[in-house]
Amino acid sequence: VAIAPGSERADLPSGERLSRVFYSDNGSTAVEVAIKMAAQYWAQNGQPKRTRFITLTGAFHGETLGSTSVGGVREFRDIFGPLLFDVVHVPSPAEEGGWERAFAQVQAALREHPEDIAGVIVEPVIQGASGMQMYSPDFLRAVREATRRVDTFLIADEVFTGMGRTGARFAVDLAGVVPDLLCLAKALSGGLMPFAVTLASERIFSGFLGASSRALYYGHSYCGNPLGAAIAREVLAVYRDEDVLGQVARKAPKVKAAFERMAATIPGLVRPRAVGMVGAVDLGGGGYLASGGWRVYEAARKRGLYLRPLGDTVYIAPALNIPDAALEELLGGMEESLREVAGG
Ligand SMILES: *Cc1c(COP(=O)(O)O)cnc(C)c1O
Repeated sequence: VAIAPGSERADLPSGERLSRVFYSDNGSTAVEVAIKMAAQYWAQNGQPKRTRFITLTGAFHGETLGSTSVGGVREFRDIFGPLLFDVVHVPSPAEEGGWERAFAQVQAALREHPEDIAGVIVEPVIQGASGMQMYSPDFLRAVREATRRVDTFLIADEVFTGMGRTGARFAVDLAGVVPDLLCLAKALSGGLMPFAVTLASERIFSGFLGASSRALYYGHSYCGNPLGAAIAREVLAVYRDEDVLGQVARKAPKVKAAFERMAATIPGLVRPRAVGMVGAVDLGGGGYLASGGWRVYEAARKRGLYLRPLGDTVYIAPALNIPDAALEELLGGMEESLREVAGG
C-alpha cells in the first residue's frame, strides 16, 4: 500500500486510495478477484445492472474462465466461446493509427450503457502475451477520466507490467493514473513462488462491510501462502535496497537502442519497440500462431539463450537486475540469431 499508485498524492480522496489488499497465488486469480469484487460491489451497492466489462482486443488476463472472458486474443478464447460471459470488446490502443480510435469506442460503449458497465479492464501500456503491443499512457488518462464521468471502475492488470517492468514502479504511474483495482503477480514474488495481490480502493472495500452476506467469499487453499508472502516481502526489500528502478533507468536505453539497431540493419524486421525492460520486434505480421519467432528461438538455443517467442514477435523481458554483462550477451546473441534467420 505504501508504494501503490497514488500513495504519494496528498490530494487523492481517501475513497480512491488503493489502501486494501487481497492476497492470492497467481495472476489469473488476481484478475478473477478483481472481476468479482467489481461485480459484487455494484450488485450490493445499489447498481445491480453494472455487470458488463469493457475489454481491449489483444488483451490477456489469465487462464481461468473469468479472466478468459475479459481476454481479447482469439486464439485463447474462441474455442471456449459458449462458456464465456459477455463483454464489450474495443480495439487495441496499440493498433496502427493510434490510441484515439480505441478510446472513441470506450467512450461510445460508456455512453451507450452508462449504467451497465461494471468496469474497464486493461493491461496498462503493454499488452504482453498477445505480442508485446505497446501504447501511449495518454490512453489510460483518457479512460480514467471517462470512467470517472460515468462512475465505473478502472481495473489495471499489472501482472506483467507492474513492479518496474516499464521503468515506472507501475505502468499506470507513467500516466499518473490511479485505478480502482490493481492486479499484481509474477515479479511480485521474483517469479519464484506462487503469489499475487489485488489492490482495491477504500471505497470498494467499504462496499463489503456490514452484514456477513456482504463479504467477498473468495479463497483458494493457497491464497496468501506464507512462503509466497515471505518472498514477496524480500522482493520489496530488494527493490528498495538495490534501487531496482534506478537499474532499469540505466539499462532500458540499451534495450531500446539494440532493437532499433537490429530493425535498421537486418532486413525483414518490423515494428521495433521498447518500454522499460521490454524490447520486441516482429518478423512479419503473422500473429500468435506464426512460426517466425520459433526459428529465432532455435537459433538462440544454439547460443545458449532462451528466447521464447510470441508467434512472429521476438522479445525480451529479462530480470530487472540482470547484470550488465549478461544483458550484453543476451542482446548480442539475439541479434546474431535474428541475423541468421532473417538474413542480412
Ligand atoms: C501472466 C499474466 C496473467 C496470468 O498470470 P498467471 O500467474 O500466469 O495466472 C494475467 N495477466 C497478465 C497481464 C499476465 O501477463
